[in-house]
Amino acid sequence: MLILTCPCCHVTAEETEFHGGGEAHLKRVGPDGAEGEFESYLFMRQNPKGVHLERWRHVYGCGKWFHMARDTATLEVFGSYAAQTLAPPDHIVDAIRKRHPDWQWPAAS
Ligand SMILES: [Zn+2]
Repeated sequence: MLILTCPCCHVTAEETEFHGGGEAHLKRVGPDGAEGEFESYLFMRQNPKGVHLERWRHVYGCGKWFHMARDTATLEVFGSYAAQTLAPPDHIVDAIRKRHPDWQWPAAS
């Protein structure tokens, strides 16, 4: 069971109050994008065993989307942050690197 904190309303609750929305920080492809770029945007996702940056929505709370960093193997949550950010904030990166010193973002694909 994940215990998450919504960075928008600051409520901490079990994951059943939230809904996962997949990988965070996807680069959207516009109408002028190449077909291969659009295919990657639609279908290609990372599925790491370890650190993953994800989108979540506080469904039974404020209803807002946010990003969260967690370890998919241990279920450790490193923190959550506003969905409007383009990269994980420094305090999240520092929390991740305490457990995973070699972690890089964006992950090499
Ligand atoms: Zn909330």
